Amino acid sequence: MQVHAPISFDSPPPNRTRRILPRALSVFFFVGQAMAAPVYLTDGHVDFGFAYATPDWDVHVHDETNDREFAPGDAVLVLGDKLLTPIPQGVRFSFLGAPGTPVYLLPNTPQADRLYLGFGSEELNPADWTGNLSLRLSGVDGPGHFFAWDLDAFGNTRVRFNSGDGLGPADVYALVPGGHGHLNFAFDQAGDYQLTFEVSGEHALDGRKIGTGTYQLTVGAVPEPGTISLLVLGVAGLIGMFCRRRQVQCARSPRTLHP
Ligand SMILES: [Zn+2]
Repeated sequence: MQVHAPISFDSPPPNRTRRILPRALSVFFFVGQAMAAPVYLTDGHVDFGFAYATPDWDVHVHDETNDREFAPGDAVLVLGDKLLTPIPQGVRFSFLGAPGTPVYLLPNTPQADRLYLGFGSEELNPADWTGNLSLRLSGVDGPGHFFAWDLDAFGNTRVRFNSGDGLGPADVYALVPGGHGHLNFAFDQAGDYQLTFEVSGEHALDGRKIGTGTYQLTVGAVPEPGTISLLVLGVAGLIGMFCRRRQVQCARSPRTLHP
């Protein structure tokens, strides 16, 4: 005589478990993704941050205004549509393109409604380093080109980074250990970008140290403030719908299923 295993009310029949478990896992996967969504930084003083903790660089996003730091992949720097500006007349800005062509321009002066974006190494002890740090733009991944420059004492442009003519030895910016600097930034196309910087310097004890960080930026559309919240609510709704369809598993605890 065939003996059947006793049926437990604490767990659904095996065939339902096989169907429900992957769906439940996918829901939790989406919840996890929503909860781990990056922070969008749209204004305030924010720096590409370069610190050092023996034996490695600590490359990060430094939100100076709110006194917080992020791994480069955990924050998105936003340059909104309000930054769209025609390229001025004159040879000084010819590296950006033809005069009158709109570009997204983030100036190196603080304004309340946009990022004040720079490079910060103030967490470094200058006594630990020989000479300046070298900051090289080693990668630009996005729909357009990235530019950064400042002006000398005579008002001449000093182009620090320009992906429009390819990346090479010229795409380097010197940074003083323990220092801080702000450049003008521009992008010629809207969209999502990844900028990779390589920082290098001569550490007094550890020798030459090289680190890299890939930063996330979005140019053009500013994400709605509630986007992430709506995403979480949407996932919650998905769970609710899932539970209504699988009422036994979601709405009641197994304990209430006992006769
Ligand atoms: Zn700064």
